[in-house]
Amino acid sequence: MQELCASLLRSLREHVRALLAAHVAGLPAPADALAALNGALTRAPAASLLRWNPDRGLYRETAHPVAQIVEHALAVPAADLLTGPDADRLTACGSTPCNRYLLRHGRRHWCSVRCGDRARAARAYARRTAAAAPHPGGTTTPPDGTRPPRARL
Ligand SMILES: [Zn+2]
Repeated sequence: MQELCASLLRSLREHVRALLAAHVAGLPAPADALAALNGALTRAPAASLLRWNPDRGLYRETAHPVAQIVEHALAVPAADLLTGPDADRLTACGSTPCNRYLLRHGRRHWCSVRCGDRARAARAYARRTAAAAPHPGGTTTPPDGTRPPRARL
């Protein structure tokens, strides 16, 4: 049962990510992802059903299957986010290889301080490499950060 829950939730998470990716890229929403989210949204047990057993007789009971409740708990905010007032601010984190999404605030392009630091470090390294490259026959700093021996004049 636990493995089934985990598998259902992983699958739903991938569908949510597919919808986020399509939204951020301005592409049509994938039909299978829409179907999966709609399934999770409509399977939420809200109705109190009529039951009967020999000990209790007739009674009302709301079903609370864990997987459906958790699926619903993930699907509702995802659907709200994709259709809400912040939907236009959704963006993918700009720090490779991070695959998270965030709501853009001003010039912020990263999901976390760690991703921002990594992206800035990569940019600084690219600048150093580019600055060293245009001198044919000159020395460049190898990627491992060690300096080549200086040429004596
Ligand atoms: Zn990130």
